[in-house]
Amino acid sequence: MFIAIKDLETQPIDFREEFSPGAIDLGPDLRQRSPLHTEGHADLVEEHHGKHKIIQDIRLKGKLDTSLEADCARCIEPVVHKLSREFDLLYRPLGSDAGRDELSVTDAEAEIGYYQGEGLLLEDAVREQVLLALPLKMICREDCKGLCPQCGKNLNVESCDCVAAMPDPRWSALEDIRKKLER
Ligand SMILES: [Zn+2]
Ligand SMILES: [Zn+2]
Repeated sequence: MFIAIKDLETQPIDFREEFSPGAIDLGPDLRQRSPLHTEGHADLVEEHHGKHKIIQDIRLKGKLDTSLEADCARCIEPVVHKLSREFDLLYRPLGSDAGRDELSVTDAEAEIGYYQGEGLLLEDAVREQVLLALPLKMICREDCKGLCPQCGKNLNVESCDCVAAMPDPRWSALEDIRKKLER
């Protein structure tokens, strides 16, 4: 859905959209498990700079929810992440040089982004919000033991004998110091 400046000049736009999995490109590592639902509204915010210059911003306010799946960063088992997020975003024309302090108090609370050309694609804003909301590394649980780096067994499920043989990096650091002292 394209939110065009020229439409906003007439009136604010209410949106209510549902994106099925695949409609928004979330990259190769994320799988969308349910439709992504978003609703809210878009307003035009005009910033006056000096007497004659007006900068037209798009303010996007609303919420989104969906559920996503990724591989656990440690054990590569699938992890489901339910996402529900509210957003309040201010998009400025790309290249406008207005400083943040020139914004009114209410607008200063909004996150700032940029749009290019005639307006903003809702899908792009939504994609950004989804990616921002996710942890950098998804893990299945805080104490996930991960895979054995030697035999590849999932250590949450089974144990193996090779772990004991692995040198502990903390000990090898001490070992290095000992060697240096011996010299
Ligand atoms: Zn895991
Ligand atoms: Zn092992």
